[in-house]
Amino acid sequence: MNRYGISYWANHNFIIENGKVKLNHKNRPALIDIVSTIREDGFKGPLLIRFPHLIEKQINLLYKNFNRAIEEFEYKGKFNAVFPLKVNQFPNFVKPLVEIGKKYNYGLEAGSKAELILAMSYNNKNAPITVNGFKDRTIISLGFIATKMGHDITLIIEGLNELETIIEVTKEMGEPTPKIGLRIRLHTSGIGIWAKSGGINSKFGLTATELIEAMTILEKEKLINKLTMIHFHIGSQINDISPLKKALREAGNIYAELRKMGAFNLDSINLGGGLAVEYAQQEDNSNRNYSLKEFTNDVVFLLKDIAESKGVEEPNIYTESGRFISASHAVLIAPVLELFSQEYELKGLKLKKEKNPPLIEELQDLYSNINLGNAREYLHDGLDHMESLLTLFDLGYIDLQDRSNTEILVHLIIKKATLLLKDKAHKELLSIQDRMQERYLVNFSLFQSLPDFWGLGQSFPVMPLTRLDEKPTRSASLWDITCDSDGEVGFNVKNPLFLHEVDIENEEYFLAFFLVGAYQEILGMKHNLFTHPTEATVNFDKNGEFFIENIIEAQNILDVLDDLDYDIKDIERSLKQQIEESNFIKNSKKKEILGELYLYLSENGYLRTLLSKEKKY
Ligand SMILES: *Cc1c(COP(=O)(O)O)cnc(C)c1O
Repeated sequence: MNRYGISYWANHNFIIENGKVKLNHKNRPALIDIVSTIREDGFKGPLLIRFPHLIEKQINLLYKNFNRAIEEFEYKGKFNAVFPLKVNQFPNFVKPLVEIGKKYNYGLEAGSKAELILAMSYNNKNAPITVNGFKDRTIISLGFIATKMGHDITLIIEGLNELETIIEVTKEMGEPTPKIGLRIRLHTSGIGIWAKSGGINSKFGLTATELIEAMTILEKEKLINKLTMIHFHIGSQINDISPLKKALREAGNIYAELRKMGAFNLDSINLGGGLAVEYAQQEDNSNRNYSLKEFTNDVVFLLKDIAESKGVEEPNIYTESGRFISASHAVLIAPVLELFSQEYELKGLKLKKEKNPPLIEELQDLYSNINLGNAREYLHDGLDHMESLLTLFDLGYIDLQDRSNTEILVHLIIKKATLLLKDKAHKELLSIQDRMQERYLVNFSLFQSLPDFWGLGQSFPVMPLTRLDEKPTRSASLWDITCDSDGEVGFNVKNPLFLHEVDIENEEYFLAFFLVGAYQEILGMKHNLFTHPTEATVNFDKNGEFFIENIIEAQNILDVLDDLDYDIKDIERSLKQQIEESNFIKNSKKKEILGELYLYLSENGYLRTLLSKEKKY
């Protein structure tokens, strides 16, 4: 049985029971039942489902682990955290996040003006707000306004010019002013595909020379009392803990040095984000080499060690983990529309009545007589015969019908052998399957919903919602519905995906992509004009039954065009006029056809069905 690596990536959030993936929470609803409930109300196409209880779980984990480490090491600093809005700014994520975070005083991080406005509008009043990224006078002024509203703001400067602007705005706007943080440029950089944020050549942060200069300026302007934090961020999805430890040593020493130079209110180190998420469906592809416990122990222990040896106060710890908090809360579920493999079914086999080439007769024998004892041998024979038959075709000795029969029989033999051998001939079967993957057309856009797969090759756990008590036999590559050949998750021998045979005319088959709650939504592109899928939130009542809230339907076609700044009235006028002037539509029919056209314009652009009879996709 293939469990799709659920024990590696799912963190007990999802389980397999009676052949279905279920949420491991409250009454443990099957995802397929949640999907059916939403679709019964007419929402078709792909769905993005949010589970706020998983946001809560991650926030709890983060605080509990840091606070446990702090207690264990008798650390004197406090733990604080903010959520970096760039990782997910969508309201049905941010609002529950802020609500859940209230009891911890969990705050928000903003990296742009719009994000700062979000933080000012929704953050819990006393919870911290950190502001990163390049800053102009406007965003600095916004920080001052926020402070005057009562928010706890730290402007983390990326360069000395930002400090100059803060000094100017302070003169204009007066007390209370925001706190000041310094982003430090470390030697250490993260590793992996997201490692560009750290290191001596990174885009961000002050060098040692600039730090000294910043201290001089702050002293001179009598703002040294505002300096409370130093900050670094060595990159997202840190898969190896050792660069983080190096970065902490570097930052810890810079903290101690700045304190000794007179930064008497400097009391916090902000380690940015980077806490990794396990996306792997197979143990050997594991994405990180540490646990949250190890991570928190290392941070607390190292900072304590440095503070002690340098004789300074132990700093408060801030983190800005985004991926770790948000990835698990969202699942993308998309219907399979079509399977490009029907040609290999037994019913397609058209053996000739008189005489078939001897090798085809033999293939037929292999297929009829294959069993557990001979499966491997027959498989090899079948593949050999196929090679020979293909050569015979190239030389003109057999015809197209013979070749079609060859393909069908060999595929059927491979399928039977796969079932019989289960995991026994794993490597060999994999390399065969690599050559004969089945293409599943899935009703979603990879560019919109999994942009990191397209851009960075990041894979996400994927599995069917049902039939998990049946062995899947088809090596699958997934095609999205964009017209772009990049819109494909190809079969990968290192990370093979097997799916079930599906009779799409008569059954529904859904695929779920997990851990899509970080970055994917906002990075998603409207390539081919496919928009954000319909989204919904799942919550639970007192009896543990789920209910659906906050449904936001995927944008309809006219709204998408409106977003591109087309004049919708213009489009409607043009379409209407063409129908009115058409000689191919009877006058009596024109109104009806116009009505039909308007109906289509009001629907979202995902496919409804590929079949002639209207079905449920
Ligand atoms: C992107 C970013 C984060 C979040 O990183 P994750 O890896 O998602 O935890 C935190 N801080 C800063 C400054 C960032 O740029």
